Amino acid sequence: MISHVLPTYNRAPIAFERGEGSWAIATDGTRYLDLGAGIAVNALGHANPELVAALTAQAGRIWHVSNLYQIPEQERLADLLVENTFADTVFVTNSGTEAAELAIKMVRKYWDEMSDPERIEILTFEGAFHGRSTGAIAAAGSEKMVKGFGPLMPGFRQLPWGDMAALEAAMSERTAAVMLEPVQGEGGIRPLPDADLRRIRALCDRTGALLVLDEVQSGMGRTGKLFAHEWAGVTPDIMMVAKGIGGGFPLGAVLATEAAAAGMAAGTHGSTYGGNPLACAVGARVMEIVADPAFLAEVNRKAALLRQKLEGLVAAHPAVFEAVRGQGLMLGLKCRVAPGDVVKAGYAEHVLTVAAADNTLRLLPPLTISDEEIAEAVARLDRAAGRLDG
Ligand SMILES: *Cc1c(COP(=O)(O)O)cnc(C)c1O
Repeated sequence: MISHVLPTYNRAPIAFERGEGSWAIATDGTRYLDLGAGIAVNALGHANPELVAALTAQAGRIWHVSNLYQIPEQERLADLLVENTFADTVFVTNSGTEAAELAIKMVRKYWDEMSDPERIEILTFEGAFHGRSTGAIAAAGSEKMVKGFGPLMPGFRQLPWGDMAALEAAMSERTAAVMLEPVQGEGGIRPLPDADLRRIRALCDRTGALLVLDEVQSGMGRTGKLFAHEWAGVTPDIMMVAKGIGGGFPLGAVLATEAAAAGMAAGTHGSTYGGNPLACAVGARVMEIVADPAFLAEVNRKAALLRQKLEGLVAAHPAVFEAVRGQGLMLGLKCRVAPGDVVKAGYAEHVLTVAAADNTLRLLPPLTISDEEIAEAVARLDRAAGRLDG
């Protein structure tokens, strides 16, 4: 008999009932050091007092009103995002998938506005993840996500990840947009070299194609900049944000330049929940904290510490790990064993990690993790790897 919860997930036999900072506490009282942070969502740790205060203060005022009305909390969040990024305008969503949907719609609308509605081809990359809607799976195109769900939304073409020659050959005056994650998350913590992102920007400028960056996982301070593309010194035309921006509250956004948002007039898009006061009050507080240069400097300092210790871990377990990769606190351990086995060994040592594609173990700790917790995390990973050394 089918479980009452639709069985689309492979769940570990652990349930958590409480969290404190970098720790998730299971129903049996076991404390797990959380290096997954709900897949880069709990950017400021569990039950962060500042976020609890922002949430409860708003919860006592008003939760939901509808976008039929002005929403000052939504405007505040949009102001913060615009002040701190390339963007001129923001649409607030509830998730990364919804952000991807709007980004795709916005590309189509843009070319329609430019009197070129046939220009719909969006170039994407193998290993990409943009969500699970029909549009987002068509964009990523992987067999695993699309099998049985055809026919797919037309207009996407996947290129080998990081293959600049293939991209140059594929780009033309027919290309509507190039859409990618600056650091692939689900694809295995695979950063695109800064020079390649700059090259893609230049190719977009030359052909007129829009550059759409999916920073759902790599954004909100995760790589040590507010957004990962800042490392390359270029900006996109459209960007998807989610995960860390809500600190655990469901929240996402599409950021765009005024030019890219051409045509997105009243009635062209909408959402019942998107941008409601409760979500935006939390999101604005997250933005205030994460956009602070002092906070980001700390992320970079701690990232260097963690990375250095992980290099030691890889050297100590050459049969388990191959290399460290990633940027900031978006780190991956390329494994010589199945990453799922390392995740399981981690459960036994009470440390939470996340598997990804390309045989990679993901480490996405809260950005607030302490130096002591970093040392403890690596000690636990060391013991977990010891179980697999063979
Ligand atoms: C998680 C993720 C999404 C989808 O976000 P949801 O909130 O799960 O809909 C899209 N893009 C990237 C890069 C992601 O990591």
